[in-house]
Amino acid sequence: ERVVLEARGMSKHFPVRRGPRSLFGGPRRAVHAVDDVSLRLRRGTVTALVGESGSGKSTVARLLAQLYPATSGEILLDGKPARAGRGRAFRAYCRHVQMVFQDPFASLNPVHTVRYHLTRALRIHGRAGNGGQETERALAELLGRVQLTPAGRYLDAFPHELSGGQRQRVAIARALAADPRVLLADEPVSMLDVSIRLGVLNLLRDLKERLDLAILYITHDIASARYFADTTLVMYAGRMVEGGDSETVTQRPAHPYTRLLLASAPDPDRVTGGPAGQGAEAEDEDVDPAGGEPPSLISPPPGCRFHPRCPMAMERCRTRTPPRFDLDDGQWAACWLYDTPAAVPAAETRGGI
Ligand code: ATP
Ligand code: SF4
Ligand code: MG
Repeated sequence: ERVVLEARGMSKHFPVRRGPRSLFGGPRRAVHAVDDVSLRLRRGTVTALVGESGSGKSTVARLLAQLYPATSGEILLDGKPARAGRGRAFRAYCRHVQMVFQDPFASLNPVHTVRYHLTRALRIHGRAGNGGQETERALAELLGRVQLTPAGRYLDAFPHELSGGQRQRVAIARALAADPRVLLADEPVSMLDVSIRLGVLNLLRDLKERLDLAILYITHDIASARYFADTTLVMYAGRMVEGGDSETVTQRPAHPYTRLLLASAPDPDRVTGGPAGQGAEAEDEDVDPAGGEPPSLISPPPGCRFHPRCPMAMERCRTRTPPRFDLDDGQWAACWLYDTPAAVPAAETRGGI
């Protein structure tokens, strides 16, 4: 198997410290940001994690990067349980699992040059060589990987002297300095101008091939997942609701929420910077044509969290959490509609909601 990073039943609950109930010693409340999430990232594969704002995507990425511990569940790198703390195993984990953030401006220090950022990253991971020429060569190779050539033009630039796309490429180069196996890219192009998004996504896809990377591509834009990712996972209100081949999930969505997402997806041209994308704002608005809002994650609805908005909701959806049901071709959905395959074949429910 080519699985490199795996999460099993991972949850993250953030305690809520304020509020009248806790003042009077009421039950401890928590934001159920991520609940019982399982996923596998494979080498040479882009996996998209799609969901609307607040669904828990960034929390999943931070858990996988071990920026904070999970409330429960397990993370495995190459089949071995990930270790927290300060030891060697933890450092090795952090080297192999690198993160790229949404805002390259915020993630680069404005008072330091590209050379500084990249040299420091190479040093941390013991890859800067003996200084001098060896370091220069490593730097040039890194910039070449993200297509910033000739390196001399970029090495002594400060972040503000670069365009948004160039800054994001530097942030990617910095992640690559660790020679990672997994790249967690949290909305890596959503702050960039529409016209340059495609270039950065194509770069990531190229890196996946050349470096055999497992990439987690987080986005609230399911149209770009279809274009860019091999596998697509859909999150709703802290839970994973559907997964499978990107092609299948976007052409034949099984979960009612995925259908809602697709129905409200912007024109794919807008995402990929095609003709329709010109003049569009860099940041997409969250649209919700079907009405309704994501639920509170402090007291999420019982049963299926989507039931208050779901046009197909049945009685048991209100009380029982649906498990994953396997469909054809590796597709699965956490939805009671698929409990008995004979009752509602996927084909009959394809036509949107
Ligand atoms: P977006 O698309 O807006 O980036 P997201 O899917 O990345 O959203 P998260 O940032 O993972 O969502 O947040 C999921 C939920 O967890 C939200 O309700 C958020 O308010 C909450 N949350 C995230 N981080 C914390 C934290 N450190 N403390 C308390 N609550 C948090
Ligand atoms: Fe809708 Fe029920 Fe399926 Fe949830 S489990 S998506 S409420 S049909
Ligand atoms: Mg986020």
